[in-house]
Amino acid sequence: MSNPNILISGSGIAGSVFAFWLLRAFPNANITIVERDPSLRLTGASVDIRSSAVDIIKWMGAEQEIRTQTTNEEGIQFVEANGKAVATLRATGRSDIQSITSEFEIFRGELAKIFIDLIIERVKLIFDESVDHFEQRDDGVAVKFAKSKEVKTYDLLVAADGLGSKIRGMMLNSQPHEQLHDEGVHVAYFTIKSDLLQGGRLAKWYNATGGRVVFLRPDPDPAGRTRGNLINVTTRGDIETKERLNKALREGNESYVKLMEEMFRDVGWVAPEVLQGMRESDDFYCSLFGQIRSPKIHDGRVVLLGDAGYATPGFGTSLAIIGGYVLAGELLSHPGDVKTALERYEEIMLPFAKSSQGGGNAMQLVNPQTLWGIRIRNASLGFVTWTKLDRLAMAVASALGFAGKKVSMPDYQWPAK
Ligand SMILES: Cc1cc2nc3c(=O)[nH]c(=O)nc-3n(C[C@H](O)[C@H](O)[C@H](O)COP(=O)(O)OP(=O)(O)OC[C@H]3O[C@@H](n4cnc5c(N)ncnc54)[C@H](O)[C@@H]3O)c2cc1C
Repeated sequence: MSNPNILISGSGIAGSVFAFWLLRAFPNANITIVERDPSLRLTGASVDIRSSAVDIIKWMGAEQEIRTQTTNEEGIQFVEANGKAVATLRATGRSDIQSITSEFEIFRGELAKIFIDLIIERVKLIFDESVDHFEQRDDGVAVKFAKSKEVKTYDLLVAADGLGSKIRGMMLNSQPHEQLHDEGVHVAYFTIKSDLLQGGRLAKWYNATGGRVVFLRPDPDPAGRTRGNLINVTTRGDIETKERLNKALREGNESYVKLMEEMFRDVGWVAPEVLQGMRESDDFYCSLFGQIRSPKIHDGRVVLLGDAGYATPGFGTSLAIIGGYVLAGELLSHPGDVKTALERYEEIMLPFAKSSQGGGNAMQLVNPQTLWGIRIRNASLGFVTWTKLDRLAMAVASALGFAGKKVSMPDYQWPAK
């Protein structure tokens, strides 16, 4: 397989990082990327890069470009309704010991653009198209496209099409939502056209009762903007709130904005300005935090990559980068033997992704529902940061491999450039 013919579904971070490394392994590879949207999706709030993904962006030669585009967030400050700070968790500025704010905190759109720019000249990118269905054959996978109705055969079909991947559903003979593990967290992301942080580089996190969180993050735009997040953390038993949020998600942005206005009207702090900023924003986006827990990530010549195979909020971008690198590395190490390459990819990535997913209730633990719970959480956080125990905890967690776990990467023999 010196000139593999590969179809990637999805032009996000996973798809473009994989294409980059595949072209390093097989410079003459024939790569087609189909993107369902009519153009590149270059929006999204802040994502971060952790663990082995930091090494990979260095090997890609993308580190400097990424550094110039980071949000420059200096850490997170927890505040009370009157704006008084109760605790500050500062970024460490280090890759080996990262706090909640990573050394590489960057808006998703900027990162996606950096990666796609590295490959765009060397792949065939088709917009407004998607895979309708596929059929496994001995020598390849035959794909029928939804719009053109054309049928083409590829050596490999890579599903890098995100959380709701239809290809995952077809591969597992199930509905895509059956692998979705709901974490009880809904988030609305939007850019506010004024600087509610007044030039500060610390993000601010404010908890109100009922699991309602107002989270404001700095924006590097010198004209002064704020990245707003309204977060709802629901407990397992609170089916009613969860259903209201899910219904609004299904109905679309206008419905979700109205629900946020209703739910956050009385929370205090700077909520009125945030709600007005949300209403006037041009990039409103809302989603559910969900993990993808798939029993397998390949079948025949179809393979799941990134969120499609193992979405993990908070670590999904790093997993997508690591997955893209490992998949290309295994294809390089097993030329002409797609079966073994995909088995090895699954052996490495599936346990690693599972171990990164944890129980999925971390957000409930750090965001209490009651006023007393919030007061106790604030007092504990205040004590831990005042005594600098947070720094010690981060160092210990990193040394033990709990913070942004690392996967030991096989030594792939990439051909010289
Ligand atoms: C517009 C957008 C905004 C986001 N904002 C945030 C954010 O603010 N914070 C955060 O933590 N994460 C965000 N994410 C998710 C984050 O990008 C991923 O968790 C992570 O980067 C892993 O990326 P991925 O490439 O696996 O999946 P994704 O980034 O979801 O990319 C999947 C790509 O596949 C395309 N696609 C979907 N279905 C099909 C189909 N049937 N056929 C062809 N193409 C298809 C999508 O349009 C997208 O371009 C966002 C994703 C998107 C698409």
